[in-house]
Amino acid sequence: MPSFDYDLLVIGSGPGGESAAIAAAKLGKKVAIIERKPYVGGVSLQTGTIPSKALREAAYLANRSSSWGMRRSLQNCTASKNGFLTDTLRLISQVVDHKEAQILSKLMRHGVTLIPGEASFIDTHSLQVVGPHGDEQHITAAYIILATGSRPRRPKSVPFDKQVILDSSSLLKIAHVPASLIVVGGGVIACEFASIFASFGSKVTVIDSHAQLLAYMDDDIVTVLSDEFKAMNIKLCMNTRLKEITRTTEGVKVTTETGDTLQADTLLYALGRKPNYGLLNLDKAGLFADDQGWVRINEHYQTSEQHIYIIGDLAGRPSLASTAKEQGRITVHHAFEGKVLHNTGPLPMAIYTIPEVSYVGETERELQQRNVNYIKGVGYYGNTARGQIIGDEQGLVKLLVDRDSRDILGVHIIGESASELIHVGQMAMTCQAKVDVLATTVFNYPTLAQCYKSAALECLQQL
Ligand SMILES: Cc1cc2nc3c(=O)[nH]c(=O)nc-3n(C[C@H](O)[C@H](O)[C@H](O)COP(=O)(O)OP(=O)(O)OC[C@H]3O[C@@H](n4cnc5c(N)ncnc54)[C@H](O)[C@@H]3O)c2cc1C
Repeated sequence: MPSFDYDLLVIGSGPGGESAAIAAAKLGKKVAIIERKPYVGGVSLQTGTIPSKALREAAYLANRSSSWGMRRSLQNCTASKNGFLTDTLRLISQVVDHKEAQILSKLMRHGVTLIPGEASFIDTHSLQVVGPHGDEQHITAAYIILATGSRPRRPKSVPFDKQVILDSSSLLKIAHVPASLIVVGGGVIACEFASIFASFGSKVTVIDSHAQLLAYMDDDIVTVLSDEFKAMNIKLCMNTRLKEITRTTEGVKVTTETGDTLQADTLLYALGRKPNYGLLNLDKAGLFADDQGWVRINEHYQTSEQHIYIIGDLAGRPSLASTAKEQGRITVHHAFEGKVLHNTGPLPMAIYTIPEVSYVGETERELQQRNVNYIKGVGYYGNTARGQIIGDEQGLVKLLVDRDSRDILGVHIIGESASELIHVGQMAMTCQAKVDVLATTVFNYPTLAQCYKSAALECLQQL
């Protein structure tokens, strides 16, 4: 057996890389993480998940002032308060710093070596790392995990300038609330930022080529979300194709293929992300990207070089911090123990718009396409005491159930705490519970979780 410097080298310290390194260290392996930025945590901690969710928390607090629940009179945090966004950005950096310190201490506790620098392949087991001061080192490892993540797609035709024409990373750094904001895109990141900045008081316009926002989601949920967006004065320009984006003295101008012109003082371009393969010199490891720009991997996240794995955003959909972490653990156990770990149950998705959306399983459209004989039951937040207290009248929990087997096929939620509530439905589906279980369960009172019971009882009535 050749000897290597490390049992495992992980490139990238995002959620995928971190979890892989910790999992391998727990197995007693000699592990190092290579990170090119002067901080750890990746997009998730520094420019994506955590800062955007922390910003959303502030926007959500500001937004509560317009709800009809008790919070309206209790609320004392408004976006119009002077310095609101500056205070918010300071709090966000505290959250990020705290989390980063936790990651560093965890890596140290488990004896993971952190190597600063940009990694690229020399051959299938060797990497060159160019440090922050240009110093070079060559390191070898038995196994290598690529977790270099993704970056916003920035087409050459869009004149990004970090001030007016922004991607999601630079939008998270602006220290003022734009009076008007054009959001290009109707996907998750676009919708999250549209609702955040509308809550801060920006006049937001969303442009997307699809007929509806988040086109793959359940239609009933999208209808509520679109209505809520309109109630927040977000203008939706759907079925609209972008022609040109130009910087003007006042801000930015967008022309569409149908000849319309829109103006605003800031623009967020949120149309997709690209994998960070760029500087890795994949060919030196015998790896190649396909026509779509992705390196092929098997169901164990292995490339054609079996000791090199690809995880997280670099592995493609679903491109989430939650799944990146799990993939890190799965690949390490596969590499060192030959174990095949599987996720249990269906994968939940959360979209932190205001209001929040979460779902698990199939949509009505998908069930119709499969000719499934299903029924649906809906529990409305507005019919629960908790919903009335907090003033969330639009929220709902929708269950899709197989008419014959009584299996739960899909759960779709919009409203406060949707991303937490979904786990009740997810667990029921994972345990292959019938809808009857939700109907006969006693839920705390008053809670939003009671919506599960109402929706399940509605299903039982139809059965
Ligand atoms: C605005 C926004 C909001 C999001 N919200 C959510 C959410 O609510 N929930 C959720 O689950 N996910 C969310 N995501 C997605 C989530 O952030 C990503 O799925 C996750 O960060 C991917 O993790 P990763 O480990 O694959 O890579 P990343 O987090 O992208 O980390 C990759 C790391 O690799 C480093 N690197 C790259 N190349 C090299 C190299 N050659 N040498 C050394 N280091 C290198 C990078 O510097 C980076 O630190 C969001 C993303 C964005 C942009």
